[in-house]
Amino acid sequence: PKTITIQNRAKDELQTLAKTFNRMIDRLQENLAKQSQFISDASHELKTPLTVIKSYANLLRRHGLENQEMADEAIQAIHSEATRIQKMTDTFLDLATLEKETELEINEVNLVSLCQSILKQLKQVYRREITLEYDMSPLIVHADELKLKQVIIILLDNAMKYSQEKIEVFLEQKGQFAIIRVKDYGIGIPRDEIHNIFERFYRVDKARSRETGGTGLGLHIAKSIMKLHKGEIEIESNEGSGTTVKLLLPK
Ligand code: ADP
Repeated sequence: PKTITIQNRAKDELQTLAKTFNRMIDRLQENLAKQSQFISDASHELKTPLTVIKSYANLLRRHGLENQEMADEAIQAIHSEATRIQKMTDTFLDLATLEKETELEINEVNLVSLCQSILKQLKQVYRREITLEYDMSPLIVHADELKLKQVIIILLDNAMKYSQEKIEVFLEQKGQFAIIRVKDYGIGIPRDEIHNIFERFYRVDKARSRETGGTGLGLHIAKSIMKLHKGEIEIESNEGSGTTVKLLLPK
């Protein structure tokens, strides 16, 4: 009976081990599938600007010397598509780093001064009215300042791209959360699209997003950063009247 007990225990342990292995393999397979999906999506995104560059380069090669107007147009298009590719690859690298480094550099951050400095920077670049309102100062959270700054810039950048009027930023403390809201009065997002917009490469209107230089990765990155902070990101939007994105950070 003693040998049988030992045999049974060994069998149990082997079974547990096999289960753990299976789980590990499943997870590895899942990660591999995600990575190959990313590579395929990313290549697809790069294809359009590359095709444009190639056709303009061909045009330049054939007629560039005879037709100055056409040459100027081609050079302009090649430059703008190359800039777009550069922006995309920068964003891909950002995302890769984010998925690799799950460690945050947590420090005390005063949301009021962080937002004030971001707005000051952006107002100079975009020349748009952006207001900041807060109910207390300082409003301290423990966060990775650079990553949080990246999230706020993504939201403001979207507000600029998809609206024409003023943009408002509100800061408040509610229970266990510090809340940042970015509000615009722009085109809004159709109700049945809202649940998709955090997905990688998802854009409501591909053509319009291309014109504004969007990659469809901004909100996905913002959500990943909020997740690392154990925070949340929520969107309220009405088509035609505007969008509010709310960030909730645990205090
Ligand atoms: P993109 O780089 O295309 O802006 P995002 O991931 O930041 O990518 O956003 C995904 C999509 O969600 C955008 O393409 C746009 O259609 C929609 N969107 C995001 N923010 C706003 C906003 N403030 N107003 C209207 N639509 C928005």
